[in-house]
Amino acid sequence: MTSYVCNYERLEDKIQTFSKFGDTGKGGVTRFSLSEDAIMARKEFECRMTAIGASLEFDDMGNLYATIPGSEDLKRIASGSHLDSVRQGGNYDGVLGVLTAMEVLETIVLEKIPHRHPFTAMVWTNEEGARFEPAMMSSGVICGKFDKEKMLQSEAKDQPGYRFQDALKASGYEGSKDNRLSTEQYRAFLELHIEQGPVLVSEGLAIGVVEGVCGMINFEFTFRGQAGHAGTTPMKYRRDALYAATKTILYLHEKLDELDEKLVYTTGKISAHPNIHTIIPDEVKFTLDARHQDPEVIKQVLAIIHQIPEEVEKCQVSYQEAWSRKTVTFTPSFVDVVEQAAKDFGYSYKRMYSGPGHDAQFVVDMLETTMIFVPSVDGHSHCELEFTPVEDCLKGCNVMLQTFLTLDEKLD
Ligand SMILES: [Zn+2]
Repeated sequence: MTSYVCNYERLEDKIQTFSKFGDTGKGGVTRFSLSEDAIMARKEFECRMTAIGASLEFDDMGNLYATIPGSEDLKRIASGSHLDSVRQGGNYDGVLGVLTAMEVLETIVLEKIPHRHPFTAMVWTNEEGARFEPAMMSSGVICGKFDKEKMLQSEAKDQPGYRFQDALKASGYEGSKDNRLSTEQYRAFLELHIEQGPVLVSEGLAIGVVEGVCGMINFEFTFRGQAGHAGTTPMKYRRDALYAATKTILYLHEKLDELDEKLVYTTGKISAHPNIHTIIPDEVKFTLDARHQDPEVIKQVLAIIHQIPEEVEKCQVSYQEAWSRKTVTFTPSFVDVVEQAAKDFGYSYKRMYSGPGHDAQFVVDMLETTMIFVPSVDGHSHCELEFTPVEDCLKGCNVMLQTFLTLDEKLD
């Protein structure tokens, strides 16, 4: 089949233009969902999509859809991601998935590429949850994971009393429920995203063929000892909760390192009470986040956790699961299409699982779905250093275009 390609200059222009909305002046953006800057980015999306003849719609959660018709009366194939960012985030997380969807549509229109299905480029509202929690809010509502009424009541972190509902109304993007991504109107969903990790770059690969999203568990541990004076309590009488916690963290590292090398785990949060330099800590808490694609490995992690005794260094140990996520598997036939597209272009690639969560992981329960990753230089993400060269973005874009066109042929 003829390989169509997207356009370097057009994609570069899109990346540069969108980086101005919420520009921090230090190489990144702060663009909270439904903020003035996010609305400007949406207007730019609308303006560019209307210019190529796409029709615009938005649904009751403010998700935005731009659709070009196909030659047959078929359901739509959609692609997109999010335009919102974390505070001082980068110019690629989320936005690149929107820009590549736009570029794919633009290429199809300008090159007059024949296609049977209508194609939709879309923008998810509030993926980051940076101002209104939780993350992946709107895809969660549309895909039946979150209760809409509860989400509408979510309060802005920086403005007590100001709810997501208020921001949605003020934005002018509260549309009809009928416009939601749904099985009635849509056939498939694709999302391109930066990897947000160092694997592709360090292995010199162009494309991540994403097979799914890793399952994860998050535990909080509590150690209870006895507070005492740092100068008067002999070591043998101490019940030092921080010492007990430290020993346990070391135990976890030792044991977890014996498991599969793809397992990643993190203690990212720790607190000591009373946290005063002359007092032996009497209560210490820490978290453990562990991720792996294989539920069996997660089970082994749980077994290691359960081996922790009730008492460590004379301190009481307790723990509880804060939250967890099952491994998500993308549509295998779609994953194969992405892989074949990468092969056809001669791009180096690897099959991999995503560590971070993405809107596509909710969509896959509703529609056949997959994702494409492009490299993140030095693995930086959620910061101003986030960077992917335009040529790498373009490779992802080309794979997306070809995936669109192959699915267009294959799907009913
Ligand atoms: Zn993202």
